[in-house]
Amino acid sequence: MMAAITAARNGVRADLFEQSPEVGRKILASGNGRCNITNTSLGCEDYFGRHPSFVDYALKTFDFRAFSRFCESIGLLLRTLDDGRAYPLSDEARSVHGAMKRQALHLGVRLRTEEKVGSIESTGGRFHLSTDKAGYDYDRVLVSTGLAAAPQLGGGMDGVAFARQLGHSIVDPWPALVGLHLKEPWPSKMSGVRIDGEVTTYVDGKRSETYGGDILFTKYGVSGFSILDASIETSRAMANGRNVVLGIDLLPQFSRQSLVGSIEKVAKRNGFATSVEILQGLLPYKSAKALLQALEIPLERNGADLTPKNVRAIASRISDWRFSVSDTHGYRHAEVAGGGVLCSEVDAKTMESKIVPGLYFSGEVLDVVGKRGGYNLHFAWASGYLAGKAMARR
Ligand SMILES: Cc1cc2nc3c(=O)[nH]c(=O)nc-3n(C[C@H](O)[C@H](O)[C@H](O)COP(=O)(O)OP(=O)(O)OC[C@H]3O[C@@H](n4cnc5c(N)ncnc54)[C@H](O)[C@@H]3O)c2cc1C
Repeated sequence: MMAAITAARNGVRADLFEQSPEVGRKILASGNGRCNITNTSLGCEDYFGRHPSFVDYALKTFDFRAFSRFCESIGLLLRTLDDGRAYPLSDEARSVHGAMKRQALHLGVRLRTEEKVGSIESTGGRFHLSTDKAGYDYDRVLVSTGLAAAPQLGGGMDGVAFARQLGHSIVDPWPALVGLHLKEPWPSKMSGVRIDGEVTTYVDGKRSETYGGDILFTKYGVSGFSILDASIETSRAMANGRNVVLGIDLLPQFSRQSLVGSIEKVAKRNGFATSVEILQGLLPYKSAKALLQALEIPLERNGADLTPKNVRAIASRISDWRFSVSDTHGYRHAEVAGGGVLCSEVDAKTMESKIVPGLYFSGEVLDVVGKRGGYNLHFAWASGYLAGKAMARR
């Protein structure tokens, strides 16, 4: 939509093909219906892919201020939070969707909804598009199909299939910003427990990154904001055949040593209470119970009978509970997909293919995946803007 609007503003007649009855369904679903539309702080360090600096030009040319001006031009005001995340002032994703769609229609963009593109052929500098309804000829084509995340909202692999047919290399896609499946049974026993914790990733046994915030235990493993953040490197590492273990700190505000002291003190003063009752002073019941079971310490053992070894084991487990990742929760639950069209084969200033002149790519179909916080939509806006401008110049 951004590319079509930009091209149309520069005098190009654009057709936009959309397989679904409605364009921009992911915008409507984004940010839990509020649309975390962009971020005030945007840099290549916020993005992942084989060629991280690919995003530099797009982010510098179409930065937060340029995007805010664009939004104003379509009647959309933004508000920003202290952490940099930006939302429409209305706090409703449908304001974004409505303003973009109105602008496109006003500029004469033809929205060909419920029309699925089946193939794109390139001959003699022109392109032939075959859809499930008809065939069309164009001298410029933009592939902005997104990738495999959220198939229920139109996600799929058509874009990479078109790119591959036209001679492009593809980095195998992987789901990102997604929950993680764990091998151990304990998370499912803690299902529903939400904590403000910390998760550290270990890739092939080597400590990697730590992510803080919300962790939600589920029937399949873990979710929550810190897990979604960790899922980018976890899923990418697993797609590359590497083994990932998570170390979860249930109480990051306490050091292991201070936990030992606190538990000892509580157990001494409340020697009559059971070990699970003692831990309930620190943790939600389900996690206190699962943790003791994992350590094979009887739940009914009195505080007075907890040995120093038991206390040290409990403190260690609270500070660093290791879980092996077996899988992600899959594309259906993923906000985005990593991988896609290899960026070194695309011009970072115009988004034009270096292999097929007149062919362009934008958004998630490219091998660019952003952090949580408005980065993925921003790259879709910025790359769409560059592509739209370049297509009008051509
Ligand atoms: C639930 C959810 C919440 C999200 N929240 C946020 C957020 O708050 N902030 C953020 O920055 N990002 C968020 N994202 C990610 C963001 O929505 C995407 O990164 C972004 O929409 C990608 O834009 P795109 O234009 O590349 O692809 P898409 O938005 O996926 O659009 C591609 C379109 O192409 C259509 N299409 C595909 N193949 C064909 C074909 N063969 N023929 C015709 N049409 C086709 C699809 O139906 C789709 O409508 C969220 C994603 C999801 C799923």
